[in-house]
Amino acid sequence: MKDVFIAAKDLTYVYRRSNTGGYKALSGINLTVKTGEFLAIIGSNGSGKSTLARHFNGLLKPSSGSVTVAGMDTASVENTWEIRRLVGMVFQNPDNQIVSSLVEEDAAFGAENLGLPPEEVKKRVAETLRLVGLTPYAGHAPHLLSGGQKQKLAIAGVLAMCPTCLVLDEPTSMLDPAGRMELMETLIHLNRDMLVTVVLVTHFMEEAVLADRVVVLSDGEIALSGPPVEIFTEVELLEELGLQLPTALKIAHGLRQRGFSLPLDILTINDLLAYCKNVLVG
Ligand code: ADP
Ligand code: MG
Repeated sequence: MKDVFIAAKDLTYVYRRSNTGGYKALSGINLTVKTGEFLAIIGSNGSGKSTLARHFNGLLKPSSGSVTVAGMDTASVENTWEIRRLVGMVFQNPDNQIVSSLVEEDAAFGAENLGLPPEEVKKRVAETLRLVGLTPYAGHAPHLLSGGQKQKLAIAGVLAMCPTCLVLDEPTSMLDPAGRMELMETLIHLNRDMLVTVVLVTHFMEEAVLADRVVVLSDGEIALSGPPVEIFTEVELLEELGLQLPTALKIAHGLRQRGFSLPLDILTINDLLAYCKNVLVG
């Protein structure tokens, strides 16, 4: 069995609001992320996804319960630095994450702040820009990059700190479909080939079906958790939770309701096409 990397135990988080007292955004969350896993977190707006993701590198601390990263309690200040290094965060808006006027300088920012020797930083930056496919843009100005490329730059900057885990909070929500697809391919490559643990918060179900495991949040609680084939066959429940099913799943579900016996592991358009081809060509 893989090691547990992040563990949330009975995690509850209350936002303090001066006028109303407080708002419980997370309640009784028990969740582990294993080393090397690709976990997707989905849920409707306001279900607590960002609040949960921010607990994974100690940006937020539990109101009660606990979160540990590589065995370190996020509530202890002495662990903060190491936890931030082990868990890199990438946010929704690529423009807010740019800090330099040159791509390679931008990617170096986090690693430089670790106090690494300049030679080591340079080596790491060259490597991480290559990993995300931005080597040809090393000398460019970041604001000239596309949205998808900016997100890849944010990822390169985080990777240069050699984290164990990437936590991405809706990183594709401001990208066009081509940019989204490319970013997903980068994440899958980092996870499968570079063994980076990935936690992806997304409202695109098409992205979540590509994960090893999916956690569905609803009103600050875990409503469902399991591999995509288990989660995405709970069609009625997902719709009740306000989630939009991926097109391939809607078609497969519709066909099943009309008496066709389709296998349950049809999750993507490619799965559906392969199935149709099999049926038609025999
Ligand atoms: P999601 O990312 O799933 O959309 P969030 O984690 O951002 O959800 O928010 C969960 C709930 O907490 C929402 O009801 C939201 O209004 C509330 N919330 C989020 N951030 C704050 C904040 N800074 N202060 C008060 N309430 C907040
Ligand atoms: Mg959010």
